[in-house]
Amino acid sequence: MVDEFDDVDVVVVGGGFGGLVAAATAAERAKAVVVLEAGTRVGGTITLSSGLLHMFDAPSWEVFHATFPTVNPDLGKAMFEHFPEFMKWLGDDIGVPMARVPLPVDSYGDPQRVPHGHILGLSSRAAIAQPVLKRLSTLAYAVLGDTYLRTLDRMLLRRLRQAVVDHLQAAAVTRGARFIVGTRVGTIVSEGDGRHRIEAVTPSGPISLRTRAVVLATGGFQGSSSLLTKHLGEGGKKAICRAARTNTGDGLRLGQSLGGDLAGPMDRFYGLPMPVLPKPIDHEEDPIALLSCSAYYAGSAVLVDRAGMRFVDEPAAAKHAEVAYAIAAEADGECWAILDEVIETRFGRKGFGDGLLPPLELIESARRRGATVTVTQTLPELIERLSEEGVDADGLSKTLEQYNQACRDGSASELSPPRTKKPLPISTAPFYAIKLVPGVSMTYGGLRIDEQARVVDTSGEPLPGVHAVPGLAGGLYTQHYAGALAACGVFGRIAGQAATPRAS
Ligand SMILES: Cc1cc2nc3c(=O)[nH]c(=O)nc-3n(C[C@H](O)[C@H](O)[C@H](O)COP(=O)(O)OP(=O)(O)OC[C@H]3O[C@@H](n4cnc5c(N)ncnc54)[C@H](O)[C@@H]3O)c2cc1C
Repeated sequence: MVDEFDDVDVVVVGGGFGGLVAAATAAERAKAVVVLEAGTRVGGTITLSSGLLHMFDAPSWEVFHATFPTVNPDLGKAMFEHFPEFMKWLGDDIGVPMARVPLPVDSYGDPQRVPHGHILGLSSRAAIAQPVLKRLSTLAYAVLGDTYLRTLDRMLLRRLRQAVVDHLQAAAVTRGARFIVGTRVGTIVSEGDGRHRIEAVTPSGPISLRTRAVVLATGGFQGSSSLLTKHLGEGGKKAICRAARTNTGDGLRLGQSLGGDLAGPMDRFYGLPMPVLPKPIDHEEDPIALLSCSAYYAGSAVLVDRAGMRFVDEPAAAKHAEVAYAIAAEADGECWAILDEVIETRFGRKGFGDGLLPPLELIESARRRGATVTVTQTLPELIERLSEEGVDADGLSKTLEQYNQACRDGSASELSPPRTKKPLPISTAPFYAIKLVPGVSMTYGGLRIDEQARVVDTSGEPLPGVHAVPGLAGGLYTQHYAGALAACGVFGRIAGQAATPRAS
């Protein structure tokens, strides 16, 4: 056993965005900080994401909460209030490049306001050249297609996302933190004197650490099909992990074994519908597939279940990133998105990084990776082809008939479920259908924490020296999604500070 690990100040379990922020923060204030990461390198899910960090520029907590009423008031307020300091620290102290960009949607519905977010890793100088880059990028994609995307991904996007990770890791290392990768933490035991004993397995064998404080930042449980099934029910069986695959919910088990409570809802999550692919996306080889295959068009399409029935108000669910959840909860984990030429042309493409990634053809991207995409010239043909996939033809036929009629006579909001926005008929050939399942990126249920990111027990008492960060920590979001990186980052900073209290 190695003595150097016998008197650690803070052990951070998990080296994703939340864990890296916690480690860099703790290392500013404590001598011995160790990060244990199960993956072969640090970074976790942010290395796969589009890296847009935002809190929708809410002018006040009251406005924020009125817009996102289902966000936990105590945790949400803490996040809102710490956000400006966190952003300043991330930019000024850690040096993470970030470009302020307008957001495509204004959640507050105020036509006078353009809310902004920050693309992490992108310098603000690049943002100035953005209109030119945007045009060049769109042109190159039109000419070279996927080849261009893959090159852009390798040469630029991965570097942008990696730059965030590198800056945080370098800041932590410069301040004395140690990183041990390929190391999964198996058990944490309280030693009764406020210290904890952590057992982990490294590539070269087991290690044991004794620490004053632990920050659990292992992400959610989206990488565990048994936990997805346990918490999401039947719909969870078909759900896929839209995040780092090493997020298998270990932190839940570790925190609960120490007496930590859970904060739900355990079945809710942020994610996007994903096509069914013949083999799982290889995150190392093809990380861009997580973005380019995500069904951002689902909220503008008509979604039907196996019975051929609509089950959700598509655009209303899309507004708060709830379509994937609805597929899990209301459609037994699978549905078919139906689009016509008009919907496909208007909503089947999506740009990322304020145009850095040109508008990607999402359905084509899924098809190229082996998804079954049905394209027909008539609706009866489409219905027949879907019946071969097991969709009830009569149900689907009635659904489309009623839906199209309601679009024509302006009564779509009276349908059941209603269609409150974008009541676009499925009427212009060609017609498209693609099967979708829930892709889970951030599970909302997890270890219960207080405003200082301390894990609390069932009576609400903090467990001494035990902290957790969303996505592992739960209860911040209960329904509406209001940003994952903001949540992980801000609470990572709070946890890093709480784990290293300064003597008063
Ligand atoms: C395609 C895509 C696009 C996205 N776009 C955005 C966006 O634009 N804006 C936004 O806000 N969010 C976005 N997100 C979500 C966001 O990226 C994630 O929610 C966030 O990065 C998660 O950070 P985390 O620290 O909670 O977890 P992770 O980054 O997942 O880190 C958890 C780490 O813990 C490690 N770990 C797990 N168990 C153990 C163990 N037992 N021992 C040691 N280590 C362990 C894992 O290996 C992992 O590295 C996106 C996600 C995806 C997939």
